[in-house]
Amino acid sequence: MNIILLGAQGSGKGTQADMLSQALRLKPCASGELLREAIAKGTPLGQIAKPYYDRGDLVPDDLVAGMILESLSNLGDAKGIILDGFPRNSVQAELLDRRFAEMGQRIDAVIYLEVPRDMLFDRLAGRYVCQAHGHVWNIKTHQPRIPGICDYDGSALFHRSDDTPEKIAHRLDIFFHETIQLVDYYGARGKLIRVDGAGDIGEVNRAIRAQLALKLNLSGGMPLSAQEESPAGD
Ligand SMILES: [Zn+2]
Repeated sequence: MNIILLGAQGSGKGTQADMLSQALRLKPCASGELLREAIAKGTPLGQIAKPYYDRGDLVPDDLVAGMILESLSNLGDAKGIILDGFPRNSVQAELLDRRFAEMGQRIDAVIYLEVPRDMLFDRLAGRYVCQAHGHVWNIKTHQPRIPGICDYDGSALFHRSDDTPEKIAHRLDIFFHETIQLVDYYGARGKLIRVDGAGDIGEVNRAIRAQLALKLNLSGGMPLSAQEESPAGD
């Protein structure tokens, strides 16, 4: 079972990807991490990607797709992959479908974590990060016990320089512009699952898993209920 997770920064996508990968035994494939790992290990694809990455240029789609396929052919105990960060537009989505088909694989479902733009903006604008370990806090939704201090390690919290209102607005504009393409693309292929991402983490996770089970049953895929373990992280 191969899944794509779509969601803006601030949608809780990373947390949900972690929870789903544990509960469904899917290998997490965040494209940024795959890239950094391939470069660090000096794999053949990593070596081709390195000059682009070092210059700060976009790494060609074909290379990123290649790294995803490598991950897919090297699953270990996992039952599939959960993709995050790629594809970002319909051209990349077509490329990925083509490359998967060549391997006799496919994307089974695409989960779109929908969060209203103003809520995303508030979450991102209220975000503070601790100096020691990067723990994330939020002045509105997730406050530390002592203002300005991380509960876990006592280090000072700071506002990231790319979290200014202008930069947040720009990132969200790009996301919504690109995501519409993917929603249309996967919607037309009957793979899209829309999940309301505005609620709390456990609630959103249950909604994702319920809809995923329904979708995979309807499309003749494997039922999830029989093989599920206890819900992760609730
Ligand atoms: Zn901390």
